[in-house]
Amino acid sequence: MNIKSVQFERAVVGDEDLDELKELPQIAFIGRSNAGKSSLINLLAQKKGLARTSATAGLTKEINAYLINKTFYLMDMPGYGYARMSVQNRHILRGLIEWYLLNPDVEQKLIVVIVDAKVGLTDLDKEMLSQLSQTGKRVVIVANKTDKLKKNDYRKQMDKIKKEAAPYLVIPFSVEKKIGIPDLNREIFKP
Ligand code: GDP
Repeated sequence: MNIKSVQFERAVVGDEDLDELKELPQIAFIGRSNAGKSSLINLLAQKKGLARTSATAGLTKEINAYLINKTFYLMDMPGYGYARMSVQNRHILRGLIEWYLLNPDVEQKLIVVIVDAKVGLTDLDKEMLSQLSQTGKRVVIVANKTDKLKKNDYRKQMDKIKKEAAPYLVIPFSVEKKIGIPDLNREIFKP
């Protein structure tokens, strides 16, 4: 199964009513700013410019909800860990993550956490996974930018990421080389 249709539904800024979105499953995409979340969403949706890339990082404070194949919502969360983000925006982002992602009352079918395979899990990534693990929600990790890994480093780095991300599934991915799409789609479209 692939993404066949994408429709921007609405932006969610926090604390508002999500009832109309609750009629369909929600799949959330989150990751450290610059890990490649927007590029990945654009690749999956086969639409350039759908999700805003890091040119506007640090400015995005809302969750963009896209209706996919008229069957589920892809929730594009703002990236975390952007060094130049203002204290106020950092506060808003934390609130949004707590309210939407860590809230046991908001149900996600799946949470996709995008990490940079070359950088590995940062402290913020580890904190995010640790917080998510306490919610019991379903999570998969996409280790993006594997094309940046030298052949000799690949296995060692992927093993390290898998160990640190355990028990979650880690999908090796490269937007650049279009690697990993079927594996991610399998998780996304799992009943
Ligand atoms: P976001 O902040 O997580 O939304 O990240 P972006 O999608 O804006 O990507 C950040 C940068 O990483 C951009 O310059 C992308 O072109 C680049 N990038 C994204 N995916 C890959 C990848 O798989 N390989 C490489 N080499 N670069 C990537």
